[in-house]
Amino acid sequence: MIRLHRGLLFGSALLASLSWATERVSDVEPIKPELPIDRSTQRPLLGKPITPGILDRRAWSAGQPLSGLALPTPVLIAAGNTPGPTMCLTGAVHGDELNGVEIIRRIMFALDTENLTGTVIAVPIVNLYGFQRNSRYLPDRRDLNRYFPGNPTGSSAARIAHHFFQDVISHCHALIDIHTGSFHRTNLPQLRADLSNPKVAKLSQLFDNFVVLHSVGAVGTLRRAAVEAGIPTVTLEAGEPLYLQPEEVAQGVRGVLSAMRGFGLMGEYNKVASDQKVFFESIWLRADQSGVLFSEVKVGDSVKKGEILGSVTDPITNRSTVIRAKAKGTIIGMALNQMVMPGFAAYHLGLHKTEGAAVDKAAEGAADAALESVRKVVHEVAKEAAASASESGDDPQAVNEAARKAAEEATKSVITKPLPVRGKGEDTSEMEPPAPEPDDHPE
Ligand SMILES: [Zn+2]
Repeated sequence: MIRLHRGLLFGSALLASLSWATERVSDVEPIKPELPIDRSTQRPLLGKPITPGILDRRAWSAGQPLSGLALPTPVLIAAGNTPGPTMCLTGAVHGDELNGVEIIRRIMFALDTENLTGTVIAVPIVNLYGFQRNSRYLPDRRDLNRYFPGNPTGSSAARIAHHFFQDVISHCHALIDIHTGSFHRTNLPQLRADLSNPKVAKLSQLFDNFVVLHSVGAVGTLRRAAVEAGIPTVTLEAGEPLYLQPEEVAQGVRGVLSAMRGFGLMGEYNKVASDQKVFFESIWLRADQSGVLFSEVKVGDSVKKGEILGSVTDPITNRSTVIRAKAKGTIIGMALNQMVMPGFAAYHLGLHKTEGAAVDKAAEGAADAALESVRKVVHEVAKEAAASASESGDDPQAVNEAARKAAEEATKSVITKPLPVRGKGEDTSEMEPPAPEPDDHPE
């Protein structure tokens, strides 16, 4: 009861007040929404038509909770005087992730509906149950962000997800779902986006100065379900759970505002160059023993292959091991200093483009592998010619000459043909990234 009470007080006080990386400088056009944006065809939201020119507040609740025990979730709606696309912002789908709640507050109460084109629908605290208990989860310990788009006849989490998706998310032309790292980990402000989807890629390009990590997203995440429903969606990750972090909040606000401008919601779209670092692959580096983790790096640091990122020391035996970067990359997420177990995911490394030396090494390896198969073919041909020459006479010089000629001819013919591929070939990648475990990228 005490925890619940404290959560409520805290909540109301708060409401009152990216294998390879590429740098890109984008010069992108706003996305043209495909859904109808005409006000006359806009569906009522939570039972009422959207009123232009005001910041409205409504309540959403899932299903039919016991009367008197309903926990209505606030939904903020800023509708511009000019019709246009609808952008949605969601925060605290995980109830312990506070930075998004504050990012949304700052944006929504700064919007000028006079000069807004279209609508912004924001749900600062999607998981109000978790928020009141400082918990990531729903009351039944389920992770809401693994149940979208939900199921009207499924588990409690699936039903909540279903109603939220139908009642709110289905109104969005684009969605930004705001999260933080989880379980005592922090994330460099970054987007998670399925860059194989052109609309999502374009949405991600609207965020100025953001790191982007390509990922399709785990099944059941709001992001993945919304993208599958045709709504371009990115997850914005910023900082760590349970804290309000001014820098991460400010960077999140800047990113979302630039995306809103890019989406055509605010005035003339300014073709501002957007410096982004995009990672197409990432790996987790793990602790190999239990003990106290101390880091020597911070999020955003670029590290070389082999560089020491931190150490884990057993407080009882004093035995210590270091965790090294297994590839060149940028620390896009990491654990805070804490007690860890073997296998604990400590550093999330966005992988950099392979360096010049590694490119040369890769080419050399590939050439060696290819030449080895050519050598085998030529060897066989020359051996056959030598054998037949030795059958017709005992002159060793003639045998050599026959082998030489045959080898020359064979090489010529092989080179004009596509090279045969034998065996598995060289592994030219710097390292094989492990198959991601679903809980390694919680969002
Ligand atoms: Zn989250």
